[in-house]
Amino acid sequence: EEPQTEQELTDGFHLVIDALKLNGIETIYGVPGIPITDLGRMCQEEGLRVISFRHEQNAGNAAAIAGFLTKKPGICLTVSAPGFLNGLTALANATTNCFPMILISGSSEREIVDLQQGDYEEMDQLAIAKPLCKAAFRVLHAEDIGIAVARAIRAAVSGRPGGVYLDLPAKLFGQVVDAAKGEASLVKVIDAAPEQIPAPHAVKRALDLLKGAKKPLIILGKGAAYAQADDEIRELVEKSGIPYIPMSMAKGLLPDNHELSAGAARSTVLKDSDVVLLVGARLNWLLSHGKGKQWGEPGSKKFIQVDIEPREMDSNVEIAAPLVGDIGSVVKALLAGIDKSWPGVPSEWTSTINAKKEANISKMAAKLGKNAAPMDFHGALGALKQVIKERPDAILVNEGANTLDLARGVIDMYKPRKRLDVGTWGMGIGMGFAVAAAIETGKPVLAVEGDSAFGFSGMEVETICRYNLPVCIVIFNNNGIYRGTDTDPTGRDPGTTVFVPGARYDKMMEAFGGVGVNVTTPDELKRAVDAAMDSGKPTLINAEIDPAAGSESGNIGSLNPQSVVKKK
Ligand code: ADP
Ligand code: MG
Repeated sequence: EEPQTEQELTDGFHLVIDALKLNGIETIYGVPGIPITDLGRMCQEEGLRVISFRHEQNAGNAAAIAGFLTKKPGICLTVSAPGFLNGLTALANATTNCFPMILISGSSEREIVDLQQGDYEEMDQLAIAKPLCKAAFRVLHAEDIGIAVARAIRAAVSGRPGGVYLDLPAKLFGQVVDAAKGEASLVKVIDAAPEQIPAPHAVKRALDLLKGAKKPLIILGKGAAYAQADDEIRELVEKSGIPYIPMSMAKGLLPDNHELSAGAARSTVLKDSDVVLLVGARLNWLLSHGKGKQWGEPGSKKFIQVDIEPREMDSNVEIAAPLVGDIGSVVKALLAGIDKSWPGVPSEWTSTINAKKEANISKMAAKLGKNAAPMDFHGALGALKQVIKERPDAILVNEGANTLDLARGVIDMYKPRKRLDVGTWGMGIGMGFAVAAAIETGKPVLAVEGDSAFGFSGMEVETICRYNLPVCIVIFNNNGIYRGTDTDPTGRDPGTTVFVPGARYDKMMEAFGGVGVNVTTPDELKRAVDAAMDSGKPTLINAEIDPAAGSESGNIGSLNPQSVVKKK
């Protein structure tokens, strides 16, 4: 009898890894544990980079911003139930912000979960993930891993990018398959985010509207930054001569000191413009839904909107000229129409804007120069504005209330995708974004954090030290949320919005071998940040800010509901 030839085998673990690698995935962000501990180890063995965090939400936020920076889905790997739920917050955040991300989570045994017999970390994760992301899939057979990963990637990056959930029950990993059959089951995604070309008549409609405008305005959103159509967007602005304002994460798409930037005249241009071209920016709460006082007289505006998502049109107000397509293709099509027939922008409009800009910029400059202790927000931000001016390649991560709102206005950006912040939602992105920004770009990262904002992801300073990342964290420490001055009217406890006064966050960094510095003046702050950026060493600078500085909820205090009832 012939001896049986030894059959080559593969399994679920290896098929997941092979499927990711085949599709160009290089880095995984996650937290190890049952049932994905070995998967992480094997990923590393097979040459994938695995960045292990202390909490899944931060790993998920890292994956999300990796997706924004690279146009490839960021991968987050979590354990079942609690780990999955922690990661899910980040997945929902990615979906809301239109960042491509895949949350891959191990899960417990289907048979036991479905009969609700109390399995280890029992949870019907697929059902829970579904309403919070763009698509959700579960794989039961190792032979389906290839197609599942392909579907997840395509769902994450095509059309409007977003979060995708991939559920991998524990049993799947050990399933053994013939190696050749396994390899044949893998799917390479061809053209994951195909171009979507706008219809010529839609382009003409938009151009006609623009040509008739007396006071045109372009608003660039983070969709425009994501699209990586930087040259085309710059050409659109410069060739048309239309003033523009960047949304927060679109800052630097053109340098903030560009002559056509109307950022410093924002309220004027929102109110007085007549035709507004939105490029990858939604008319959501961040733009007051395109209506109300901020937008001037009702009916005074016509909107042109460029977006890949058709249903975004008319979400809040009528869109006179919808341009559905990918930003690169749409902007190219618009550019083709900005030819000899282009009337230019009336100089009255640009000179009105320039006058307003100059006035606002000099008003601001007066607040920035002071080297006083205790620092207020403007004093400290003046120093950081200078840092980014001198280091335009650095990536700025920013969250907080006053720390966010004021930094957005004060710190100019000079290059695309260098400003990463809370985007459409709220706090907690800081250290996750900082880690991924450093890993994905290799550039130095400056994370400017409110003391409260930092608390949501602060434990990741250990991660930053462990991977020795060139991240400099500056904490604007004013002893609390908004301010450090609240008290409990009964005298029993600290006020609800305050923290330990005089806390030394810099000591946290020292605990893990990083550099900690405490500063009290803008000059000290500038010196400490420069040293950190020069050395590339993980650094945390505790910047003492006046506890009385800062306003309730920063710029969005009006969103706080007010009680009209006074207790007797
Ligand atoms: P911002 O908060 O900066 O205003 P939003 O998140 O509100 O930005 O808007 C981003 C928009 O960009 C979303 O509506 C999204 O569908 C769109 N978008 C993302 N990527 C692309 C792309 N490649 N082409 C066209 N639109 C895109
Ligand atoms: Mg604070």
